[in-house]
Amino acid sequence: MSIQVNSLSKFYGDKQVLSDFSIEIKTGEIHGILGPNGSGKTTLLKIMAGISQFDKGTVTVGGVDAKSDQIGVRKIVGYVPETPWLYESLTPYEYFSFIGSIREIPNDIAERRANDLTKAFGMEEYNDQFIGSLSFGTKQKVSIIASLIHAPKILILDESINGLDPQSAKIFRDLLRSLAQDGMTVVFSTHILEIAENVCNEIAIMNTGKIVAEGRTEELLKERNLEDVFIGLTSTEDISSVVNALRGTLR
Ligand code: ADP
Repeated sequence: MSIQVNSLSKFYGDKQVLSDFSIEIKTGEIHGILGPNGSGKTTLLKIMAGISQFDKGTVTVGGVDAKSDQIGVRKIVGYVPETPWLYESLTPYEYFSFIGSIREIPNDIAERRANDLTKAFGMEEYNDQFIGSLSFGTKQKVSIIASLIHAPKILILDESINGLDPQSAKIFRDLLRSLAQDGMTVVFSTHILEIAENVCNEIAIMNTGKIVAEGRTEELLKERNLEDVFIGLTSTEDISSVVNALRGTLR
């Protein structure tokens, strides 16, 4: 399933956060959305996930219109927010079972998926602890597992790999690649350029609510590394003069 965003505009009050924004996320691609803080990544992903509304343009997610049918969008999408939204007084096991029931997945299937994912992420030891007592990275894993219980055709991740330990990050990257090979469409934002380089087939770089570069990862990286491309397109400051000024201050 693909995502089509055409001429999207979004305002918070008077402030325009996305302006005349268009992007196509193709079926089976892993599409990275990069951009500095405040460039509009979370806003865009929440609209694609059927969580936030927008002011102008059209957004179609797996053929469903995100303006008129946000619930329809949420049914086909798995969404992992930057900060996990979880019920702190449930255990992961109870939470996955709850998610399975609100997603109307038969108990045995939900349980099998939860168990397999729990094992893959090395989470068994936390199964009976309250979510509220877990570390940020472990909560992030709970949130990732919960997003996959209904086997979504589209997975949207907002900075969700950043808190994972290297082992889990690797498992997750490999899992994303194989799910994409099976036809799942993945969109994710990250600040970590190395993750984007390693995982994404397509990359879009945003700045102040617009796309400033996009294309196949190998094309974008042909002449320069991603850090140089990113900083060249999104930074208003000359980094070496900033660093020199800091050295002066810190001397
Ligand atoms: P990013 O994910 O790239 O950091 P966001 O989409 O979170 O960017 O934010 C884009 C801009 O919108 C920022 O200037 C942010 O302050 C503003 N913003 C985000 N959410 C809200 C909100 N609920 N109300 C008002 N302004 C918001």
